[in-house]
Amino acid sequence: MPVIKDAVCSLCGSLCDDITVTVEDNKITKIENACILGYSKFVGMFEHDRIETPMIRKDGELVPVSYEEAIEAAAKILVNSRRTLSYGWCSTSCEAISGAIKLAEETGSIIDSTANVCHGPSALAAQEKGCPSASLGVIKNRADVLVFWGCNPVHAHPRHMSRYSSFSKGLFTEKGRKARTMAVIDVRKTDTAKLADKYMEIEQGSDLLLVTALRSIINGHEDVVPETIAGVPKAEIIELAETLKNAKFACIFFGMGVTQSRSKYKNGDAMASLISDLNQHTKAVMIGMRGHYNVTGFGQVATWETGFPMAIDFAKGYPYYNPGETGANDLLVREEPDAAIIAAADAGAHFPQKAVRHLARIPVIQIDPYANPTTELADVVIPAAVVGIETEGTAYRMDAISLRMKKLIDSKFKTDEEIVKDLTVKVRELKRGA
Ligand code: SF4
Repeated sequence: MPVIKDAVCSLCGSLCDDITVTVEDNKITKIENACILGYSKFVGMFEHDRIETPMIRKDGELVPVSYEEAIEAAAKILVNSRRTLSYGWCSTSCEAISGAIKLAEETGSIIDSTANVCHGPSALAAQEKGCPSASLGVIKNRADVLVFWGCNPVHAHPRHMSRYSSFSKGLFTEKGRKARTMAVIDVRKTDTAKLADKYMEIEQGSDLLLVTALRSIINGHEDVVPETIAGVPKAEIIELAETLKNAKFACIFFGMGVTQSRSKYKNGDAMASLISDLNQHTKAVMIGMRGHYNVTGFGQVATWETGFPMAIDFAKGYPYYNPGETGANDLLVREEPDAAIIAAADAGAHFPQKAVRHLARIPVIQIDPYANPTTELADVVIPAAVVGIETEGTAYRMDAISLRMKKLIDSKFKTDEEIVKDLTVKVRELKRGA
């Protein structure tokens, strides 16, 4: 009975790489070390609504076809389209992402990731101000002050605090939780906040005000800060500023509560400046709590291949990037795309109604292991192997450390990487008139 050690959990951006998996008769029968989310990914894949075969919509119904027929139908959609949107690609490997970018270039498409509706604004902020960061290993070993801002790892990244942050024991933090001060800033008292030493409840959309007040205090201008800001008394903000300044090593983990609230990328921009201010006094870094396990990988691969981390338009034959104009959601709401590939993501469930309504009107190619609301909109459905379980591949953890995901069991499904390669070959054939 094979027991595979140090498997990587391909669910959230923590990419825990200490999972032990027991395999019997090509089935996963035992999982050790995973949290409940990770467990459901490994074991639940046999229970979830798997797409069993490629399908093409005929007379309103999805009917089973071969992979070759589905690839040909998808390639025809791409060749006949003048403005294809390729969206998702964050729950798959870097190798598949690289292939998807090549396919987008070949077809003059726009390719965007799920960051469009999550941490995209922090990518913009990083381009303007940089991202003073560190690996999670450094945080584990050194950070004595941790701030969780607009994120709730107890539910979204359940092992984050025990492996890398609040409760972990490191080289200079051998007392674990006792060695660290933990603060939470949020608009409601989350389960993460209940574990904190300091909880600061702020008014919805006031993150930028609070960051600016902290910066003023840290830079010696507390006189300009009003008595209450962001719904928080000034005395509490001064206390947090002092805690951060007096840290040996501080880390601010931030989530979608920061990136998707009012002021959007300016929040990340100001936070990078706050980190820079803190580095006049101590060592401080920031890390985005990325959700999809390889959304960081999409940003890395897209940046090294095109110069941009997301929302890349190849219509002019070279990469063009202007989020707000070339973001997936912006395009759909403007009803611009005349075809779409949705891969390893679920636009049908997560996009606003107007965007989904447009998707329902245009030909949609879905590439995914599982059926989801996007399947209801799709004209061609191509099932894929689950990366990190049925096929290997590379992914980037939230701190931009790359990890190799293992293949644990055999699969009858093609990998995302193979599907994208086949599609590219077929598109080239059709374009040549072969
Ligand atoms: Fe998987 Fe995330 Fe849980 Fe780690 S914290 S086991 S990566 S779901």
